[in-house]
Amino acid sequence: MALKNDCFALPAGVTWTPVTRALADLRDRLEPVTAVETVPLANAQGRILATDIAAPVSVPPADNSAVDGYALAHASLTREGEQRLALIQGRAAAGAPFSSAIPPDHALRILTGATMPDGTDTIVMDEDVDIDDGAIRFGSGLRAGANRRRAGEDVAAGDIILASGQRLGPAQLAHAAAVGLTEAQTYRPLRVAILSTGDELIEPGEARAAGQIYDANRSMLLALARSQGVIATDGGRIPDRPDQISHALRNAAATADAVIVSGGASGGDEDHVSRELSKMGAMALWRVAMKPGRPLALGQIDGVPVFGLPGNPVAAFVCFLIFARPALLRLAGADWPEPISYPLVARFHAKKKPGRTEYLRGRADGIGGVEKFRSDGSGLISGLTWSTGLIALDHDRDAVEPGEIVDFLPYANMGLLV
Ligand code: AMP
Ligand code: MG
Repeated sequence: MALKNDCFALPAGVTWTPVTRALADLRDRLEPVTAVETVPLANAQGRILATDIAAPVSVPPADNSAVDGYALAHASLTREGEQRLALIQGRAAAGAPFSSAIPPDHALRILTGATMPDGTDTIVMDEDVDIDDGAIRFGSGLRAGANRRRAGEDVAAGDIILASGQRLGPAQLAHAAAVGLTEAQTYRPLRVAILSTGDELIEPGEARAAGQIYDANRSMLLALARSQGVIATDGGRIPDRPDQISHALRNAAATADAVIVSGGASGGDEDHVSRELSKMGAMALWRVAMKPGRPLALGQIDGVPVFGLPGNPVAAFVCFLIFARPALLRLAGADWPEPISYPLVARFHAKKKPGRTEYLRGRADGIGGVEKFRSDGSGLISGLTWSTGLIALDHDRDAVEPGEIVDFLPYANMGLLV
């Protein structure tokens, strides 16, 4: 499937687009781009469903016992006084049902998961029973249907149990297995190429000359992309040379479903990414009202979306999580992920201008509060390592005082393991 070539066009007349507006536009314009294929569920962990799945059978298939105890007919019991029921020889166990009906005033030994024998509707559990002389005794007050699981109470045959756009995690795989399914139609995993640009960048391990810095973004963005379940490939490190940048971007777009490039995305002298993308057409510089993050360059090369992120590692990290992550998930076939934040008590003071969304690196203290990193400098990678999530200060907000409530977006809620 190809994206519309105006999918990154900007809202007319808006100079600085609020984050919520930019996200809504991306959500509305992006759609799954990878092919649908049938895969065995045994190999489907992390895949995204391309169709709804209906349950072919009910779970549980029959009424059964939730405990170890004795199955009986509630009609055999008296309202008050001690209950005494004769025991039938034999038992019902999971996978080994009892074949004959239980007559009134009798009970049968039953184990957890066993199908309820005919003639019974209630189970008295082991802990409540005394046994003597081939009979069980217990007190009054057992509810009709106690300790019985009903057929279909978990899943009814025909129910939609999983929806298109859902990712197959442990629970979803269990759900599909529980109704006997062996395969599912899923999207082929999205392939994402990751590139860095900048004359100053060298490879970790290389000797460093004056003015050079190690490329941190490629490792970071490869790991960020992989955390979202996509296949991320290394598109290399490109100097600030227009011809090399356009060549590398074209190569990346030829083999991937989406491209992420950091550095050179704004309008400066050496910001060739935005310029080269413009030449290739359908590029838009998204001036999003947020901090950190300079303009995002969103473009397409032959229908392949390209996300030009800021070079500053913290800004690249934040822009990935806020913009590229939901966009990649949508391209991969997943539902658009609405950010899930938690209200926490600010343990800090922060200045803020209304009119833009600010993301601070935060660390939850485990007792309802959140601290912010000691410095707001958006180049400090140490603040990323220190933090456990982003504090989102919304568009209209001004300064934060200690004790006020702020929104905290844990990295774990965005798929990061640390
Ligand atoms: P740029 O967006 O290219 O103007 O880069 C902004 C800042 O981020 C500059 O200080 C760059 O040196 C730095 N930077 C750019 N790319 C990387 C990278 N891959 N790793 C570490 N720092 C980077
Ligand atoms: Mg640069």
